Amino acid sequence: MAISIRGVTKKFGNFTAVDGLNLEIGSGEFFSMLGPSGSGKTTVLRMIAGFELPTAGNISLNGEDVTTKAPFDRDVNTVFQDYALFPHLNVIDNVEYGLRVRGIHKDERRKRAMEALEKVHLADFAQRKPSQLSGGQRQRVALARAIVVEPKILLLDEPLGALDLKLREKMQIELKQLQRDLGITFIFVTHDQDEALTLSDRIAIFNNGKIEQIGTPVELYEKPASEFVARFVGTANVFDDAASKQIFGKAGTNMIRPEQVELGAKGKAATILETIYLGSTIRFILDLDGHQIIAEVSASDDSARTYRRGATVKVNMSPTDLVALNSKEK
Ligand code: ATP
Repeated sequence: MAISIRGVTKKFGNFTAVDGLNLEIGSGEFFSMLGPSGSGKTTVLRMIAGFELPTAGNISLNGEDVTTKAPFDRDVNTVFQDYALFPHLNVIDNVEYGLRVRGIHKDERRKRAMEALEKVHLADFAQRKPSQLSGGQRQRVALARAIVVEPKILLLDEPLGALDLKLREKMQIELKQLQRDLGITFIFVTHDQDEALTLSDRIAIFNNGKIEQIGTPVELYEKPASEFVARFVGTANVFDDAASKQIFGKAGTNMIRPEQVELGAKGKAATILETIYLGSTIRFILDLDGHQIIAEVSASDDSARTYRRGATVKVNMSPTDLVALNSKEK
């Protein structure tokens, strides 16, 4: 295991930010920690890096217990959201910095820094200052600076948070390719579910200092264990016990995804409250016997394009598409 976290709790005064966490991350995994603001993701990342000490529990990296070791005694490196580049140093000197503090000779330093810059497609920008770069380029310098020291584990704390959507999507693909090329473990913190689904081999969903569920993107989307996960990863129609019995004749809390709600010739009559055109799909907010339901239909479906607000449509939801949720979760 690249990372083993056992029974880790972190308290700040009386407040428990991380609550008895257990987590194993394999070597070479792209692992994301996803959750709402304040759920404890960054605190876990900082404990892995060594910037924060657990109140209880142990952390091992590559089989070695590092719980109380200083950050520089751990085989990890961190990329922060604000990049933290040195403004007075040019790009290559920024990238070389970690090698210099490790006492690596100048020629070797230059060579390795140039190789790292090539990996992030910035070899032509070596002499520029950070202020002469775009946000995406600065982000890549921060990445080059982190990978140049060849850590076994790279920690990334919302590294794409400051970028606009288009650049963010481009950098996501580049990050994934880089991780594959390097073959090292990436631990990625984000509150953006699309980003986590795009990048990750596995994702841990955080809520109130605990992990609600760990799984692949497919597992989390198709088989969420709780209502919290169902609502946090994608959009969900959640039915409580009474609604489930009334609509499906099934007990318990159940969930169905909007793309599994069919509109057309058969089913129960519902009123269209709202139509939202999203480009590739059209989203309908429907009222079915007093229950609000979201349906999402391909925009290339010609009949769906004719449905108007206020009209009545037939809604068909197959009970086989229902996913049972752990009803005690909020
Ligand atoms: P975000 O997405 O907003 O970064 P997060 O999930 O990463 O959120 P953390 O930064 O881990 O959340 O914070 C978890 C909780 O611990 C928050 O309620 C935060 O206020 C609290 N916290 C974090 N650091 C400290 C600290 N040094 N002192 C006191 N409380 C802290």
